[in-house]
Amino acid sequence: MTRLETSGGAAAAGGAAVSAARPDAIRRHNLALILGHVHRDGALTRAELTARLGVSRSTIGALVADLTALGLVQESVPSGGARVGRPSHVVGPHPSGPFVVGVDVDVTHVTSAGVEIGGVVLDRRSVPIDEGPGTPETVADLVARAVTALGRSTGRAVLGVGVSVPGTVDHRSRTVGVAPNLAWREVHLGDLLTERLGPDLPVTVGNDADLAVLAELSRGNARDCDDVVYVMGRIGVGAGIVVNGVPLHGRDGRAGEIGHNVMDGNGPTCHCGKRGCLETFVGDAALLTLAGRDEVPTVENVDRVFLDARAGDERALGAVRTVAEWLGLALGSLVNTLNPQRVILGGSLSQVLGLARPEIEQALERYAFDPGHPVELGLPRFGVDSALLGAAELAFAELLDDPFSVQSLPAWP
Ligand SMILES: [Zn+2]
Repeated sequence: MTRLETSGGAAAAGGAAVSAARPDAIRRHNLALILGHVHRDGALTRAELTARLGVSRSTIGALVADLTALGLVQESVPSGGARVGRPSHVVGPHPSGPFVVGVDVDVTHVTSAGVEIGGVVLDRRSVPIDEGPGTPETVADLVARAVTALGRSTGRAVLGVGVSVPGTVDHRSRTVGVAPNLAWREVHLGDLLTERLGPDLPVTVGNDADLAVLAELSRGNARDCDDVVYVMGRIGVGAGIVVNGVPLHGRDGRAGEIGHNVMDGNGPTCHCGKRGCLETFVGDAALLTLAGRDEVPTVENVDRVFLDARAGDERALGAVRTVAEWLGLALGSLVNTLNPQRVILGGSLSQVLGLARPEIEQALERYAFDPGHPVELGLPRFGVDSALLGAAELAFAELLDDPFSVQSLPAWP
C-alpha cells in the first residue's frame, strides 16, 4: 500500500532520502497522493482516504483543505441515510476545477474531448479529416481549433493538451518518428501545436496504443494488472505494453510496433514499405478486402462488416474469423515474449473478439508456448475512447505529480 509521508516519524523511518526532503516537498508529495486517489477512484470519504493512506483524520483534513484551496477538490457532507454518528465528509473532484483536452488523431478523424479530474468527459467531438490522411499542418490546425473551442465552450481553464497519434513517438521531443498510415516521418507535432496554441499551454504527444493502455491502467480494465498488453487495431495495428507495472517505450519510443512484424515475407505490401506485415492481415483494410468489399477503411464501412457478420452474412463472418486466426498467431508471439496476464483488444479488434473469440483462442493455443496460466483476453473499459482518455491522462501527469503546478495557470486561485 502507498503510505502517506509526514514530516515526523514516518519520514524518518523512510530513510535518508525522505528525511532530508524539505517539508514543502513532502507536502507536495502527500497532496499528489490524495489527488491521485480522487482522480482514479472519484469521490472518496475522508474515512476511506484515512484508511487507504494510513494517517490520522486530522492530517487528511489539513491536506484536503490544501487541495480545496487550490480549487482541485471539493468536500461535501452526505445527506440522508440512517447512519449513526458524524458522517464522514466526501472528497471529490472540484466541479469547476481545471480540465485537460485529450485528442485522438486517427487516419480519418480527429476526436477531442475535455476531461476533468476523475475522468468525467465534458464534451466529445469528432471531425473528419478531409480527403484522406491529413498533413501535419492540417491536423495541427484541426487540433488547435478543437482545443480553443473546448476552452471557449466551458469557460474554464485548460491545464494542458495530450495528443494521441497512430505512429511512433519520442516523448521527450514530442516528435512523431514514423506514422505509416498518415505518411508522416519525423514530424515535430508538439512544436506545431505550440506554435498554434502558444507557449503557456503544455502539449504532450503519445502513441495511440501506449496511451490506450495508460487509460486502462489508470482507471480501466487493467487496474489490477502489472503485465498487460493493449493491442490497438484500426487502420494501423500497434501494441501498448506494460511490463511489471512500467510502460515499455524502447529507446526511441518505437517498442510495440507489432503491426509491422512480418508474418509472410511474400504477403501484401504494407504502407511501411515492407511486405506481409501483421497490419496487412488484421488491419481494417484487410478486413474489408477479406469481406470482398472494395471500400476505403472508414469507421462506417468497417462497422458495416461487423454488423453484417452479426446478422449472419457468411462472407463477412468468414473475414472476421480469418482476421481472428492471424491475430491469434500474432498474440502467440507476444505471449511468448512478454508473458502478460491480460491482453486487451481495442479498436476494431474489440469486435473481432466479440465475434470470433474461439478462433483467437484456438490459434493462441496452437502457436503459443505453454504460458503457464492462460492469458486473459479482454475488452477495453473505455471502448473506442481508450487512446483519447489516455491522451488526457498524459496531459494530467504534471498536475498529478505536483498539484501546486495548477498555480501556474493564468487567473487560477
Ligand atoms: Zn508494415
